[in-house]
Amino acid sequence: MSINAYTWIERSLKTIHRADWYRSVQTVESLPGPTITLDGRELINFASNDYLGLAGEQRLINAAIAATEKFGTGTTGSRLLTGHRHLHRELELAIARLKQTEDAIVFSSGYLANLGTIAALVGRRDLILSDRYNHSSLKNGAKVSGATILEYYHNDTEELRQLLQQHRHQYRKSLIITDSVFSMDGDLCSLPELLELAAEFNCMLIIDEAHATGILGKTGAGCVEYFGCTGQPLIQMGTLSKALGSLGGYVAGSATLIDYLRNRSPSWIYTTGLSPADTAAALEAVKIIQKEPQRRTQLWHNINRLKQLLQEQPGKTTNTEDFIESWSSFHSPIFCVHLPNATTALNVGQQLKAQGIFAPAIRPPTVSTSRIRISLMATHQLEHLQKLVEVLFSILTKEEVC
Ligand SMILES: *Cc1c(COP(=O)(O)O)cnc(C)c1O
Repeated sequence: MSINAYTWIERSLKTIHRADWYRSVQTVESLPGPTITLDGRELINFASNDYLGLAGEQRLINAAIAATEKFGTGTTGSRLLTGHRHLHRELELAIARLKQTEDAIVFSSGYLANLGTIAALVGRRDLILSDRYNHSSLKNGAKVSGATILEYYHNDTEELRQLLQQHRHQYRKSLIITDSVFSMDGDLCSLPELLELAAEFNCMLIIDEAHATGILGKTGAGCVEYFGCTGQPLIQMGTLSKALGSLGGYVAGSATLIDYLRNRSPSWIYTTGLSPADTAAALEAVKIIQKEPQRRTQLWHNINRLKQLLQEQPGKTTNTEDFIESWSSFHSPIFCVHLPNATTALNVGQQLKAQGIFAPAIRPPTVSTSRIRISLMATHQLEHLQKLVEVLFSILTKEEVC
């Protein structure tokens, strides 16, 4: 009997197809922006994490070109060997100034920042408490660390307290991990309560500011600033690839923490330093978000405008109002239209695309319930938002979801 060790892969793909969980890539053929050319068609783009519209900004492009001409395309080694440039340090200091922390460290991606930081901070004798809706990088960082992981219900600080009361004493160190703005729902973590629990139960706290940096807080420092918790004992991480329009990740915190990570974080030590182009573009972006708060103001203006347009939706019933409330807390540029199943979500996504709007269906296993995820940018025009609301409601009414 000949057994092919790889035939299970095809079977597994078929199962993925049957559940409508199959995914494939779509090609963007233009600069990033509020409208993009996707597979040959121009669409209004509600699928981007480039919240401030910086990824296609000329000053970032120029900074990347200048850095490439000066330092080349690759850094040729890990930061501890030949991969470190002065640009990296400038970026780290700029992030630390933005976050008002003693120091910061730049990783090659946000995903690697979470994997490497969590694995460096806790191990087999330790305990991690994790929000159920956390990003994959936090969850996998927790797994890689080998610590015991307890998940609490989304934003349920009461359950978190109970878990700490029951289990904290059995472990040496303990770490709470959470998104600050939840990436697929757009709501915020309860940071003040989390800080209180961390202090009461002697836990470390990592807050993932991927979707908050550049967006929340007076200076764009993120959720920590928004809640007035600047300077509190916690570990902030984030990415350079969302509002900052580049690539890479960072951790900001005390000088001791950062020094420790440089010595103990495998995903920083054993990977090639971030490219000069990405580093220079991110540095330019950090300067812009501090110099030009009007970008943030414009984004918030759009968030509020969308909320208003949804509320003014003609023919709405009280039911529709509850329905819209369930989509978003309007505390971030992310909101999601909850749909009954993956098939409906795919359907709605395809109809949106056919009518000129790109807002993708997000399905399990990325999230537990299917939805359309919509993200706003500072550079969306009023007519973009109007078209979104008009098209969305015509589809939802036809699909009998609202
Ligand atoms: C995108 C994201 C990351 C990963 O950042 P990358 O730089 O894209 O690897 C981490 N955490 C959250 C919450 C994210 O949304």
